[in-house]
Amino acid sequence: MILDDYLRRTPTSAQWSQRARKSMPDGVTVDTRVFNPYSLYVAHASGVHKTDVDGNVLLDFFGGHGAMVLGHCHPRVTAAVTEAMARGVQYAACHPLEVGWAERITRHIPGAAKVRFTGSGTESTMLAMRLARARTGRECIVRVATHYHGWHDFATSGYNAQFDGSPAPGVLGEVAAKTLLVPPNDIAALEQVFAQHGADIAGVIVEPLGSHFGLVPIADAYLQRCAELARANGALFILDEVVSGFRIAPGGIQSLLGLRPDLTCLGKAATGGMPGGAVAGSEDVMGMLQSSSPRKVLHQGTFTGNPVTAAAAIAAIDEIVEKDVCTHINALGDYARESLNDMFDRKGVRWLAYGRYSGLHLMPGLPPRGSDPFAITRGEVAKPTAELAAALRMGLILEGVDIGGRGTVFLAWPHQREHVDQLVAAMDRVLDRLG
Ligand code: PLP
Repeated sequence: MILDDYLRRTPTSAQWSQRARKSMPDGVTVDTRVFNPYSLYVAHASGVHKTDVDGNVLLDFFGGHGAMVLGHCHPRVTAAVTEAMARGVQYAACHPLEVGWAERITRHIPGAAKVRFTGSGTESTMLAMRLARARTGRECIVRVATHYHGWHDFATSGYNAQFDGSPAPGVLGEVAAKTLLVPPNDIAALEQVFAQHGADIAGVIVEPLGSHFGLVPIADAYLQRCAELARANGALFILDEVVSGFRIAPGGIQSLLGLRPDLTCLGKAATGGMPGGAVAGSEDVMGMLQSSSPRKVLHQGTFTGNPVTAAAAIAAIDEIVEKDVCTHINALGDYARESLNDMFDRKGVRWLAYGRYSGLHLMPGLPPRGSDPFAITRGEVAKPTAELAAALRMGLILEGVDIGGRGTVFLAWPHQREHVDQLVAAMDRVLDRLG
């Protein structure tokens, strides 16, 4: 049994988990880390490997929730962080590193005339939505149901009840009421929401690949329509490039599709894998943050733009650009999808590896080839597959491979084809075990 093997191989994680449950709800500090019977406890990581507290070495395809585009402990990033740490981590003052970081973002992200840093991707979408409301004098935000933009109230309202917009527990009904949820890829529904509420809509926010880096894929044409409708109705177009920025291309998807969002949210790769985030946008909208603005938008944060994150970000961005990292990991993504689907075909199992760029999702129950990932609905990726995804993940851990929850795989710069081959072989064996 997979579970018995897991219990046998991870006794020290079990002990840590038992101890953790006494001081943290569920014994975890992030909801998505709940894993039955318990999560693995990691002792250290380097490159594309993580080692757990029992000494099990895992080939890592979780990639720090997609943040570790350069892998763990990349020497250039580690050196930059170490040097910054030694100079002090919190000056309560401006410092040169934040300027260098801002210059890189405005250089690479097409829609970024100006930038402000934040404490996380969540804070980035929160600030972007506030800016949209302030700039337009309107209150409603159009959001694609299934898209994850962090966990603040405006990103969470309606999250539990995907389409009826009812508030998630703890979220004000008033906030939920101002969040207009639309189904992914449904242009007619989008047009209808603008037709009905156009005068109240401050902005439309989308995750350009479609929820968790393409779990529910979004067509490029849908993005274009979001931009057009926002513009035509005097609303702002907000692209959440927290995952895609500096991962699929230094300039994010906007540089590939010729999109010019009013606001871009960044985090993860754009912060060199350190805690932080950024909001970038046009002169006009970012001007709302100027002290001279008559409707000045508040923006604070003790750790905003801290020198350690700034140092990591600068090192990571320079490395990503100089080494053309995105081209390597995107090609590896193609290779991984192809190799996995070949293996599924060979085995005759109804699984599909789908996605774009440097990530992929593993989904059971679909025809392996020729199926249309853009037709995938929330229902198909929600509960029925969650248990299977957990079993798959546990099986892969026993094979020395870690992937993300819900069968998400992220490629990183140190990955090579042989690592992908290891993933495919491990998956092959796990499918045999799962039966
Ligand atoms: N936006 C997207 C698209 C994300 O994937 C995430 C996190 O996974 C966030 C925002 C929130 O970022 P953070 O976890 O840094 O708050």
